[in-house]
Amino acid sequence: MMKKYLIYISLLGAPLFWGQGKMTETSVYRHNLALSEQENKAMAFDADISLSEAELLLDKKISGIRKQLLSDTESKKISLYNSSFNELKPLIEDSNLFQLLQTMPKGGLLHTHSGGITDVKWIISRVRKYQESYVYDQKDNDQFIFGQLAFFEKGKVPAGFVSLDKKLASSPGFEKELQDLLTLKRDHLCSYTDYWIEFEKRFKRISLLLPYRPFFKEYYLKGFQDLIKDKVQHVEIRYIFDELYDFEHGKYPLKTSITDLQDILKQIHQSDPQFTLKLIYSSFKFLDNESIGKQLETAFVMKKEFPDMISGFDLVADEAAGHDIRFFEKSWAKMDELHKKYGVELPLFLHAGESNSALNENVLDVALLNNKRIGHGLNLIYFPKTMEQIRKQNKLVEVSPISNQILGYVSDLRNHPARVLLSNGIQCSINSDDPSVYGYTGLSYDFWTTLVYWELDVKALKKLVFNSIQYSSLNDNEKKKATAYLNQQWNDFVQKANRQFN
Ligand SMILES: [Zn+2]
Repeated sequence: MMKKYLIYISLLGAPLFWGQGKMTETSVYRHNLALSEQENKAMAFDADISLSEAELLLDKKISGIRKQLLSDTESKKISLYNSSFNELKPLIEDSNLFQLLQTMPKGGLLHTHSGGITDVKWIISRVRKYQESYVYDQKDNDQFIFGQLAFFEKGKVPAGFVSLDKKLASSPGFEKELQDLLTLKRDHLCSYTDYWIEFEKRFKRISLLLPYRPFFKEYYLKGFQDLIKDKVQHVEIRYIFDELYDFEHGKYPLKTSITDLQDILKQIHQSDPQFTLKLIYSSFKFLDNESIGKQLETAFVMKKEFPDMISGFDLVADEAAGHDIRFFEKSWAKMDELHKKYGVELPLFLHAGESNSALNENVLDVALLNNKRIGHGLNLIYFPKTMEQIRKQNKLVEVSPISNQILGYVSDLRNHPARVLLSNGIQCSINSDDPSVYGYTGLSYDFWTTLVYWELDVKALKKLVFNSIQYSSLNDNEKKKATAYLNQQWNDFVQKANRQFN
């Protein structure tokens, strides 16, 4: 009704009013501006959210806290926009806004990787407790790299490896050096680093640790506990399957990692029964069709046996160096056949558009495939037709702001492409990708950046949080329970935050 009335005024009303003085002209102009504002807001991703009185009050408070933060940093001449996450991390941790966000329920973490979820300092301190832990302290070669960690049986230690505990005890500076070798920092926005080469070295340095069954169990238990502490109730891991092993039994079948994870969940459920987990079977973009075909078959076998644990399939690694999604056309063509053979569906959750180049067209492929969610989608904004398709198909984009800055895709986070997606009605969720490699745990840091740099309000924040459950791979029953839990947590948070921040 309001819209029609305003259109009527703008088309017919204005000439009538012209004779009636300047005040009326101004008011028509104001009306049109209000209409324009309203129409823009109606296209945004969070247009369907309306806030309660308590949420509106919290919104005012958060907006005040944000303003205070901006004026404080300005008076101290700290450049929020031209500093890297690593430079700002201490400031973030000291801020009221961060303390508030730590208490905010986050819903689900939909995009993270099996090698990147647990705190690096913890990894070093835990691994050194195993007598059988070693570190490579020679120059990089084809097989091993400096700082690579591993477990070996006594008498079977390859040349170049030394006892981790002894090395840490004998060289006081080595612990800090090892921490730096396991984390990727973008210390200055202007210095040159080949980020993906350095990034992949970080994964290589811990790659031999994770399949060792005793450590595997500790690693995931700690990872889940960290998430729960940061108010994350659900996680979906891009999971690289590997056969677990120990020195008594040798290798275990592939499915042992799933049954072990189920045991860890049982343990977690004693104190946090709401916590849920899904695995997205992941392989690599640099493999060929034959290998990916085999991986797909294995993924279907696993999904059939563990339908509640495996949700879908993804291909990871640097998009600029690996194959395009269309290179695997033959493999995608087999999906229907595999679906019939195993009687289960295996949707895709592909990384696509983790790039600044319009020559990378992976986002075009995900719009055509049975692809539920998109990892990153940074260059989606260069393909308006595809953006429209993704919006209509209601496929969520998993956004990881800090990861995008550290890997060099965005410098000033105010210019993050996700802002364009959100204002155009594309659904997104906030993610941490590989927080352990970036030197943090949880999701609060990523939410902090969206509040500060994207000027989000409580309405947007709420939508992002609830999206992470709505677009999760939880089944209908699980989703219902998870949403009820999140609602209750969210309302508690709003009440407490309103009391705490006056
Ligand atoms: Zn990722």
